[in-house]
Amino acid sequence: PTSVMWFRTDLRLHDQPALQAAIDGGPDGVVPLLVLDGRYWGPGASTRQAYLVRLIEDFSERIGGLHLVHGDPVAEVLRVARQVDATSVHVSADFTPMGAERDRDVEEALAEHDIPLVRTGSSYAVSPGRVSKDDGSGYRVFTPFFRAWQDHGWRRPAEAPADVPWLRPPGGTDRLPEATVPDGMTLPPHGEEAALARWAEFLDDDVADYATARDLPGPDRTSRMSVHLKWGAIHPRTMLADLASLRSEGAAAYARELAFREFYADVLHQRPDSAFGYYNRAFEQMQYDEPGEDLEAWRAGLTGIPIVDAGMRQLRAEGWVHNRVRMIVASFLVKDLHLEWQHGARHFLDLLVDADLASNQHGWQWVAGSGTDASPYFRIFNPMTQGKKFDPDGQYVRRWVPELADVPTRHVHTPWEMSDPPAGYPPPIVDHAEERRESLRRYDAIRTGR
Ligand code: FAD
Repeated sequence: PTSVMWFRTDLRLHDQPALQAAIDGGPDGVVPLLVLDGRYWGPGASTRQAYLVRLIEDFSERIGGLHLVHGDPVAEVLRVARQVDATSVHVSADFTPMGAERDRDVEEALAEHDIPLVRTGSSYAVSPGRVSKDDGSGYRVFTPFFRAWQDHGWRRPAEAPADVPWLRPPGGTDRLPEATVPDGMTLPPHGEEAALARWAEFLDDDVADYATARDLPGPDRTSRMSVHLKWGAIHPRTMLADLASLRSEGAAAYARELAFREFYADVLHQRPDSAFGYYNRAFEQMQYDEPGEDLEAWRAGLTGIPIVDAGMRQLRAEGWVHNRVRMIVASFLVKDLHLEWQHGARHFLDLLVDADLASNQHGWQWVAGSGTDASPYFRIFNPMTQGKKFDPDGQYVRRWVPELADVPTRHVHTPWEMSDPPAGYPPPIVDHAEERRESLRRYDAIRTGR
């Protein structure tokens, strides 16, 4: 018998139970299929496409050639499976709302020809929906989820299979589309080897004091594993096993962050509508402003608030932003500019190389106060205070806002207070104290129903 291994966001050989299942189901040949779905491959420059093209090239080279096909997966997976007489098609389960729906459609089409779609594992240590409260409903609060998630446990990571009987259907493979990197952006390293190497380096150098260092964007000592997790170049189970062997405070703090990624995936699975709608629907009633020049200034990193501009410029330059700064720029968009979080989340999805529907939308909703287990709305980040606390010497601001490189530290987060502010850097587009009051007024209106 032969089988098809349909790859999506799981481009790796290590710790890949779906691939083992494909080998078991197709000892005479496994087709390494990747479908370039037209719905996700648009024209123009996109961070994700550019990164994915490199990743696919890298993975294809490693296995001696992926079978690439352009088109609608419902038609193409079936066509390839029938072409090679496959008796099963294997995937690592996709839990995004659109991905899960697509897989159900493919499953139905295959079933008409008696070919099962076999889901083995997912990109999570504990797949969404696996842990629930005693009454069977999903968790809405992180801490009890975290406890149940830990109690649930996970499989031991698996080695890469020694030998895969890869099978390439006759007729050759389609070509990858061209993808240009957005202007001025440098993409991070890609591929399974890069992911494993970065992980080993982080474990050696930085995990020990992760618990304290993770909040400081200047020294930049987080793992930058998000992009590798996003595209499945490494499985979180592999990482959790390494962390468990360390038994340090830093390792425990890091495992907790991985659990956050799993929590948000679980919440999105429970409430697919929360991808673009308010998780807490009360916030639909809030008064928001229409996006205009302020949104443009935010996107361009020209708001006149140094830490906000630094973050937005890092996003453009690297397709990645430090977590603390993601919170600060998101809070500024929602609570200083009074815009709906979806405007910011959409921009993040367009530019982030680690763009992940669950972590991004729920990261935004957490900041906006409308998410599950969210930060209370009235706790409004002051971007200047945040800057002084988490970037005390202005290292981060100076790196990303060259106009402020030589400003004395005491003014680096408030350059407008200088008698002679640096030329070329804009004054703040809003007065934070005033906008804070306005935000609280709007919140009060939905809270009291006035
Ligand atoms: P590390 O600090 O090294 O963390 C290790 C891993 O833990 C990360 O790679 C990630 O998988 C996970 N993690 C850490 N913090 C969080 C968190 N708050 N929520 C969920 N998972 C977390 N993360 C994404 O992967 N994709 C996104 O699109 C995304 N959008 C975000 C948007 C906003 C507004 C906010 C506040 C956070 C967002 N995050 C997102 C979470 C977090 O900012 C990133 O995971 C982190 O900055 C990635 O860098 P790192 O790998 O160096 O993190």
